[in-house]
Formats: sequence, C-alpha cells, structure tokens
Amino acid sequence: LIGQKAQKEGFKVYAVGGFVRDLLLGVPNHDIDIVVEQDAISFARKIVKYLGGQIKEYQKFGTATITLKDGMKIDFATARMEFYPFPAAMPEVEETTIKHDLYRRDFTINTLAFRLNSDKFGDFLDFFEGSKDLEQGSIKVLYNLSFVEDPTRIFRAFRFESRYSFHMDDSTMGFLLNALENNVMQKLSGTRIFEEFQAIVLEPNPSVILIRALELGVLDNIFGKCSNPQQLKQNFKHTMDSIVCLKEKGILEKKDFILVYLLVIINSYPKKVFEIILKDFNLDKGSRIIIRNFFDVGLERIEKLKSNKHLDPSEIYDSLNGLSVHSLCAMMAIADNDLLKNRIFLYLEELHKVDVEITGNDLKEMGIKPGPVYSKIISRLRQQKLNGEIHTKDDELNYIKS
Ligand code: ATP
Repeated sequence: LIGQKAQKEGFKVYAVGGFVRDLLLGVPNHDIDIVVEQDAISFARKIVKYLGGQIKEYQKFGTATITLKDGMKIDFATARMEFYPFPAAMPEVEETTIKHDLYRRDFTINTLAFRLNSDKFGDFLDFFEGSKDLEQGSIKVLYNLSFVEDPTRIFRAFRFESRYSFHMDDSTMGFLLNALENNVMQKLSGTRIFEEFQAIVLEPNPSVILIRALELGVLDNIFGKCSNPQQLKQNFKHTMDSIVCLKEKGILEKKDFILVYLLVIINSYPKKVFEIILKDFNLDKGSRIIIRNFFDVGLERIEKLKSNKHLDPSEIYDSLNGLSVHSLCAMMAIADNDLLKNRIFLYLEELHKVDVEITGNDLKEMGIKPGPVYSKIISRLRQQKLNGEIHTKDDELNYIKS
C-alpha cells in the first residue's frame, strides 16, 4: 500500500535497516523503517491520511513515526547524510540519495534495503555486502572512524553480537579498540549512555553484553577504574540469575532491570561514579532516591543477613523494609549468598505482606488517646504477627488488652 501511494504521489521509498535485517534472518521485528528520498514528513502525512493511526513529526531530524491502530509502528526518515561537526555530537541532516543514506549507517548488516515503489517493488539493494555479512554472522563498520563518529555504535555492536550470536570482524574490533584508546566514551553525554544501557537491559541477555563491555574496557572508559573486574563479572552473571528469578515470580518487571544493573555497576566503581550517575543520567526522582538509599543503608544490611546467626522473621523484616525491589535484587547479585537470598525471598513472598488489621479507630474506641503511641502499638503488633505469635484481628485486640 505504501509503495502504491509513493508511486502515485511521486516519492521514492525503501524499507531499510533493522526491519530488512530481521526479515532476512526470519526474526520478528514490529517496527518498520522506511527511507523516503524526498521529504519523509510530507509523505508520512499522506500515509496517515490513507491508513489512519497517529503521526508524530520530528522536524529537526526530517523524520516522522506513525503508530497504526493495531500498535504497529512505521518510522519514516528522509534519505540523508550526516555531518558530524565534532565526534559524538548530534547529527545535522542534509538531503541526499539512498546510497549515501545507507553508507552512514552503523554496520553493513543494517545497510540492506528493499524498494517499495510499486513499479520496482521488492528490488533488493545491497551496496556494502551486507547480505554476505548477515550470512556469515559478521558485524562490520562501514568506515574506520565509525566508532569515533558515534561511540554509541560500540554498544550497538555488542547488542547485535549477543542477540544473534554474531561477531565483529577483526578490523572492526581493531577500530573499536583504537577508538577506546582515544577515550571516545568520554565524549558521550550521560543521557546517551543511559539510553544505550536501557537498550542493553532489554536484550535477552544483558549480562553477556555488559561483561563484554567490561572486558574490552568500555565501562572503564566511561566510569574510571573498576575496583575488582573479576568480581563485577561474577556480579553481572548473578544479576542475570536474580532478575530472571524475580521476574518469573512476578516480583520484578523488565522496566526495573536498568536500576538493578546500575546499582551493581556503581558498587564496583569509584565513589564519583555514584554522583555522576545521579547527576548526568537523566534519572527520575524515584530512581535517584532508590540509588541513594541502597548505598546509604542497603549495603550495610547485607552483612547481618548473610551471617548464620538466627534471625526472627521480624528482624529480617526490619532489615529489608524500606528497600526497593531493585535494591533487593541487586543485593542478591552482589552478595551471592544462599542464606541472604532465602531471607530476601521470605521477605518478598511473605513478610512484606503481613499487615496489622487494627486501625486507629479501633484504638480510639478502646479509649487509647491518639499520639505517637499508635505507631508503637501497630509496629509491636506487626512484630508479633511476623513472628507467628498472633494471627487474627481478635488476637491483636487481646494482645493490646493484655
Ligand atoms: P533494534 O532491533 O535494536 O531496534 P535496529 O537496527 O532496528 O535494532 P534502530 O535503533 O531502530 O535499530 O535503528 C534503525 C536503523 O537505523 C538501524 O538498523 C541502523 O541502520 C540505523 N541506526 C541506528 N542507530 C544508528 C547509529 N548510532 N549509527 C548509524 N546508524 C544507526
């Protein structure tokens, strides 16, 4: 339909990028990327009139996104060549042809395109041997300074390696190491690094990607010297186990993964990284509070919970109450101690649900004057309930009377 419309309206349009790559790999991809040789925004406007749905326009970049009623997304971009006034800056856009457009892309496997115009529908464009690299599972940049121009491509390379079990070829790896020697990661803003981390944690195995980034020195390039790389590597592995386990139990959602990984990373880097992440990573207020709380009180509590000493359920509750599920997951990953894990599970699955049934009104009716004593009574009742001394509301009333 898009090809017919393009033909009728005099536009040249192509399906490109991740959509074509995944189509050839037989992998589902629900976002369609379309390049328009003329102005993509005016073409997208025509399409939205034709197909319905919602359009969002980005004038600065010459792009538009249509979200169809069934949730499918179509991205329209004007064919362009990007000029980078200095490395790692945001691209400035200039109109040019499809070949130039494909040349500016990250890897050869993402340069493949199909013509959509109805007169040449399905013509396959492969200017840079992308289909050969796709077959061989090879990730190759298009030019030597690709990673210097845009260091986020380093993370993208790791993501594609891990997602499809592909590998960077030797020269691409050489360019990457060379870019790192020039400290390219330092040129990225916190916001862009955070966006890349968000994309990484949504991949099937974020830990493998982060371990690769650690081993090749990418994390050190961003954060300074890791205090114990072997330990961090182990922690990344344990993080994966912990998030999978808590997700299966319905306790953690995918959107929570990012914070768990950030806590694990901060824990292994110099103190200043804590401040940098809080200041530059564009985190919301809630996330910043969780991070502060983890390092202010969370870590200390690990020691007590790891020790073999007998702890009453109410003591476990008191140690973990007030810590977010992200913090608990990160604690499990960092400590990797079975006793601690069991205690956290006990807290998440049972203890934190234990509630006192008596209300302030009940206490008033019993003739107790409102004041700080109310919260003392409630917390004593909770302690009794957690330790299995009392069970029902009647037990609570009798306990107060006694
Ligand atoms: P994913 O499946 O993770 O969404 P994708 O390849 O579809 O992967 P997008 O981020 O949606 O990734 O980008 C669409 C296309 O835009 C890519 O296939 C690639 O051709 C190009 N692209 C994206 N980011 C970059 C970049 N940093 N440098 C160059 N080209 C890029």
